[in-house]
Amino acid sequence: KRQHQKLPSWLKTEIPVGEEYKRIKRDLRGLKLNTVCEEARCPNIGECWGGGDEGTATATIMLMGDECTRGCRFCSVKTNRNPSPLDPDEPENTAEAISRWGLDYIVMTSVDRDDLPDGGAAHFAKTVQLIKQKAPHILVETLTGDFWGKLENVETVALSGVDVYAHNIETVENLQPYVRDRRAGFKQSLSVLERAKKVKPSLVTKTSMMLGLGETDEEVMHALKGYYFLTIELRKIDVDVVTFGQYMRPTKKHMKVEAYITPEKFDYWAKTAKELGFKYVASGPLVRSSYKAGELYIKNILR
Ligand code: SF4
Ligand code: SF4
Repeated sequence: KRQHQKLPSWLKTEIPVGEEYKRIKRDLRGLKLNTVCEEARCPNIGECWGGGDEGTATATIMLMGDECTRGCRFCSVKTNRNPSPLDPDEPENTAEAISRWGLDYIVMTSVDRDDLPDGGAAHFAKTVQLIKQKAPHILVETLTGDFWGKLENVETVALSGVDVYAHNIETVENLQPYVRDRRAGFKQSLSVLERAKKVKPSLVTKTSMMLGLGETDEEVMHALKGYYFLTIELRKIDVDVVTFGQYMRPTKKHMKVEAYITPEKFDYWAKTAKELGFKYVASGPLVRSSYKAGELYIKNILR
């Protein structure tokens, strides 16, 4: 309660619940899907699940369990070096549930599974293929890890029939070692996004950054477009979509919020990124990587 009171006014939100949200929630109970929307108590759930005026309902689900082999300092997912084996029925069950759910757009994400030889790439790909078989009208986004830089796994997912390939750089290059697990890194993440685009140029590629971790404006600019003609960065490898949201500390054990970025500053980054050539930008204190993704893509890029 006390922490809530310290928040700037623009971060104080009630979780809105509409009729559509209630209906989906009822349906979900029988489907046995793990949604990030519910687990993270995402403030956007009413808007995403409700689909807004466009009727483009979006949700994010988790595959491959809830224990991660990594431990990033901003993330509340449990760490376990030896998580449970994959459920071989998960691709089929997930695809079946999603095709019955009545969504327009599904984001599938997962913990990092460095314990698996392919990081779970084949499992992801199979799930995408089955969804597309059962419900070809649903747009599918995968939000995967970096596969520890093993780019053949990126290809497996990129060629699965997925519409949007997302991988998050999370923060600026200089802060990577403080924010992400030591096995992750800025260049490795760029190589993932670059490979996905190369192997299938019609794919929409997408990344997200958290702001408020202590980054400077110059560092954000660097991530978007590099310093002068040096270095690789997001625009040079043709990433289509970028999102910016406020970092929120999940518990006291996680890294501190260094700054609450104002809504005006988020607007500034949206405008700047647009000018740099990103096809779509979502930027705001409560924006999460999958925020109203269906509406955005259907209107702006994919259809
Ligand atoms: Fe969380 Fe992903 Fe980092 Fe795992 S790899 S700790 S799920 S952010
Ligand atoms: Fe779910 Fe993502 Fe929307 Fe939040 S922003 S409700 S996690 S789809």
